[in-house]
Amino acid sequence: MKEKQEKKKEIAPNGPHFSELVQGYWRLGDWGMSPQQRLTFLKQHVELGVTTVDHADIYGYYQCEQLFGEALALDKSMRDTIEIVTKCDIKLCGEKNPDWKVNHYNTSKAHIIESVNRSLARLNVDNIDVLLLHRPDALMDADEVAEAFSELKQAGKVNDFGVSNFTPRQFELLQSRLEAPLVTNQVEINPINFEVVHDGTLDLLQQLRVKPMAWSCLAGGSIFHGQEAQYVRVREELEAIRQEVGASTIEQVIYAWIRRLPSDPLPIIGSGKIERVQTAVEALSIELTREQWFRIWIASKGHGVP
Ligand code: NAP
Repeated sequence: MKEKQEKKKEIAPNGPHFSELVQGYWRLGDWGMSPQQRLTFLKQHVELGVTTVDHADIYGYYQCEQLFGEALALDKSMRDTIEIVTKCDIKLCGEKNPDWKVNHYNTSKAHIIESVNRSLARLNVDNIDVLLLHRPDALMDADEVAEAFSELKQAGKVNDFGVSNFTPRQFELLQSRLEAPLVTNQVEINPINFEVVHDGTLDLLQQLRVKPMAWSCLAGGSIFHGQEAQYVRVREELEAIRQEVGASTIEQVIYAWIRRLPSDPLPIIGSGKIERVQTAVEALSIELTREQWFRIWIASKGHGVP
């Protein structure tokens, strides 16, 4: 049984419970940590209440799940304190897949099941809390995906399913073939790119009471140093609002801006520095007014609302 944590959120009706912030592990391979340091980092962010972790089979060119699994093997009890999200469907060519000439997507039943089996082995766990289809696949046969999901659920290998980077129509198509609700759509949300606010993606999720997961909240770090006019305008406005709300950094204002959305996104943290995780956790108490929210919108677009 999972340890009961305060402040977890049900991410979809009768769906799993996630922490309000999620720790992303895409960049784990760059952090230069020993297995023991990886375990310490995991324990520290769990201690801060960040219990949900985000992976994908391909992160670090198929390495990051393995690096995480090595850390988990040092203290297997940690498995029961976390919720594991991982993804499948992108196939990367290169030395691991010498037969392929181009990167492509594969949502066939055989590939989904094979990918999950590999993720379980690399992560060193018996089951995955939530499996996401990583990118919409033009060749996706929704009936076939439904068969794969059903088999994985029955085998106890995956508890729940979701998607990532899906349009509202793609989400609805897949949902129409599934017995259980999709529990999330993991999408890019940051003050530089927030297309999902306007293209119906977040509207559909709000309608269904399904929480998005927000990736690259800090625009992959470029929010701090981007030189184009849009970045400069956004940084200036973030700094002005930082002073008004008494936040310690502009990233705290960004997390508050994302969390102000009524679909209630769960920001994914991309840093491997525990002090930055702590900064994000402290941002949970910051609330922006409507006007502050729109000032960042206006700074990003470079014009006022219509
Ligand atoms: P991010 O938070 O936008 O960017 C993280 C980068 O920002 C890191 O390189 C970090 O450097 C840097 N950074 C953070 N705070 C900083 C500061 N105060 N000053 C300067 N640099 C700072 O997040 P992300 O890594 O792009 O994405 C987060 C997670 O989303 C990933 O781990 C992954 O789980 C998920 N994701 C999903 C998809 C998808 O298609 N579903 C796509 C991309 C990402 P340090 O490491 O030095 O702190």
